[in-house]
Amino acid sequence: MTLLFLIACRALFAPEPPSVDRSDAAAHLTGNFRTDAPDIVRFGGPHGAPASSVQAVRFDAPDGFSINAALWTPDAPTGVGVVVAHGHYGQGKSSPEAQEIAHRLAARGVWVIAVDSPGVEEGDRPERQIHFADGAHNRGFLVSGGSSALALQLSGIQAAVSLLEEQGVESIGVTGASGGAVASFYIGWLDARVDAVVLAAPPPIPREAAASGCPCDHIPGHPGPDPGMLAQLTIPSLWMADVKGPRPDGLSGAADFRIFEGPHSYTESMQRAALEFFEVHLGVPGGPWVKSVPLLNLSTGTDPGTTRSVMGLPLQTDAQWTPAPTQETVAQVSCEGEGKVVLALGHSSLPTAVRDAYRVCSVSMPAPGAATWDESAWVESIGRGSVRADAVLGAVMAAAKRHDAVAIWAHRVWALVAGPSGLPFVVHDPVRDSSRLQPSDPAWVHVPGAWTGVIDRELNQALAVSDDVDLLVAALNNASGG
Ligand SMILES: [Zn+2]
Repeated sequence: MTLLFLIACRALFAPEPPSVDRSDAAAHLTGNFRTDAPDIVRFGGPHGAPASSVQAVRFDAPDGFSINAALWTPDAPTGVGVVVAHGHYGQGKSSPEAQEIAHRLAARGVWVIAVDSPGVEEGDRPERQIHFADGAHNRGFLVSGGSSALALQLSGIQAAVSLLEEQGVESIGVTGASGGAVASFYIGWLDARVDAVVLAAPPPIPREAAASGCPCDHIPGHPGPDPGMLAQLTIPSLWMADVKGPRPDGLSGAADFRIFEGPHSYTESMQRAALEFFEVHLGVPGGPWVKSVPLLNLSTGTDPGTTRSVMGLPLQTDAQWTPAPTQETVAQVSCEGEGKVVLALGHSSLPTAVRDAYRVCSVSMPAPGAATWDESAWVESIGRGSVRADAVLGAVMAAAKRHDAVAIWAHRVWALVAGPSGLPFVVHDPVRDSSRLQPSDPAWVHVPGAWTGVIDRELNQALAVSDDVDLLVAALNNASGG
């Protein structure tokens, strides 16, 4: 009794978290948003489902960028709609973690849309990928233009909210497991049309700068923890942790935090709790528990065709990288040969004409777990809001000084850091345009404004930019008297 009393007192007298301004973080996530309902294209005949039918659909969000989804039409529709976002469970909308709760909501008369993020199921193509290492360049491209992979995902979910409104829905919920819980939080925080959210197995929100797992939910420059942001989710929310732990700092009184120890998933007990929560807060009708739900292939069965790639998205930013070298990283350098020193960036072996005339010092970044670049340091820099290229530039300048280099031979995107180093340089196999990037190119090339002026600015300072090795060697010899 005393313990209960103490807990009640703590809740009553716990200090309110200070009110904070997170409008800049919100602006980061709404850059590509659209709020009008997009046109939907339906694929194939509807599948039968418990007291409902479900059909694969596609719509654009943002303009010209296709999003794949599945739309449940209940047999006895109510004025309630729920968007289901997915986590990293392989097949987005078709994963059991997305599909089971969707079926059970639809069986109660709820309009449901399960939305794919770019890069999953039939959208798993290099030009659309935003997840894990394969999505690094697309994520970097979005950040270079003042947006983010998270903003792009939220854009699809917000379009789905608009589609529910178009069905005449008056109460709107959003739910998902793991990464889907993260998306549910942000839509609940950002979109006033959302009335309640249910988060199954949520990871820490917002993502911390150096957190492990897929970094597609970073808000650039706004790493967690951020109790002030959590406090701003004032609509009813259900937080279902899959591991024992404390209630996250900052959650408002409208948040119901519970622990469902078990798999990192949207378990049946979580689904039961979600249904009850939506009964109370959205007016979902009560009904029997649907014991068995089908596991359907909800793919549209087609590729995204000619719609935009991530790097084809029009981004608006005036930001341009101003190089500011830092000393946080020490480059790995290996030198060979005799003579004046040429620093080789991004090259494993230089042409004989260079190796015969110079002592060549090859520079590379420490690369834990990666073949050519330090992915984790780059990912962390996005979370912190710093520019990883500044650390690479600092490392290159320190190496140049240590080895008394007279010039730089830069391969491909390494021209970006050769330019600001202050040394004369040549560029072999230049990359002027993001469409020429290869997966092996380091993702730190996506500095602010990289593809809207910065790359050209640096290439313009080179002694020579060419695929022709002899031409580059001649330019190098001219400049260094080699
Ligand atoms: Zn991801």
